[in-house]
Amino acid sequence: MTFSHDTEQALGTLVRLVNTLPAPGSQVDELKTLEDLDKFIHDREFSAVGQLTSADLEEVRALRGMFAPVFTTGSDAEAAGLVNAIIARGASTPKLTNHDGHPWHIHYSRDDASLASRITVECGIALAQVIASGERERLRRCEAPDCDDALIDLSRNRSKRYCDARTCGNRLHVAAYRERRKTAGE
Ligand SMILES: [Zn+2]
Ligand SMILES: [Zn+2]
Repeated sequence: MTFSHDTEQALGTLVRLVNTLPAPGSQVDELKTLEDLDKFIHDREFSAVGQLTSADLEEVRALRGMFAPVFTTGSDAEAAGLVNAIIARGASTPKLTNHDGHPWHIHYSRDDASLASRITVECGIALAQVIASGERERLRRCEAPDCDDALIDLSRNRSKRYCDARTCGNRLHVAAYRERRKTAGE
């Protein structure tokens, strides 16, 4: 594991959140309704989330544009500027916890804070940890020609090039395979 459990969990949540934004040239927003938000919370295993309101939905939707540029920065200084601005927006209250059998580790947001505030703080600090570990280049965009989904590369040798939409890596493999066959004169 490259980062701590909670850091990787927060980064996974963040990638999923940012990728609900419509892809370039598309109108499909995957975080439009309270139902979408409910599914997101469930899939990402958020604990202790109360009744969600349309205010929660609007706040969480607004976070996406704030986090998205972090996946295309060109330097640590640029990334640090973005991440510091994000962290400054949330009220962080560090607290030691050993929930669910995990070793003692720190949570940065209060359980009773709003959902958007929790995401801001936990994902902001997770990004700060990535940058402070000299691992900023693991925050990237998918290299498939018609996809620019955010991705976090947790592979040992930083070899991940495509997002987790199965079509991205596969489609290119198929194209490369056909190209090879063609050159081989088959
Ligand atoms: Zn935890
Ligand atoms: Zn992709």
